[in-house]
Amino acid sequence: MTKLLPKRYEVQLIYECDNCGCEHWCSIEESVFPAGIKCYCGNNMRLEPIDNTRLILSPKNKRVKKKKQEQKPIHDGSKMLDDLVSALVNLGYKKTESVKKAKEAMSHYSTLDECLKFALGT
Ligand SMILES: [Zn+2]
Repeated sequence: MTKLLPKRYEVQLIYECDNCGCEHWCSIEESVFPAGIKCYCGNNMRLEPIDNTRLILSPKNKRVKKKKQEQKPIHDGSKMLDDLVSALVNLGYKKTESVKKAKEAMSHYSTLDECLKFALGT
């Protein structure tokens, strides 16, 4: 069953009375009423009509997904691990063996040269 997105939406415009500060919620249709609206305090308010509004609907699930991608941690040293592994594979080691050796080497040494020497020496 597919989830439904809203078919339509309604925007409420909020006007504040300049006499008493009271807030008035109007629909877009009400904002174009030429006589304006009358506040509870008796103040007649002429409203600046709003011709159009735009609401961007962002479904929650999609937003969460995007956020997760943004927060994906950048694994430090993954480039070096890749380099080490491919170097070892080129030297005839199996992929799984190369990964294991590369990771072990990287726990002891920090440069590619040292790691390669360590991996080849064990
Ligand atoms: Zn008022």
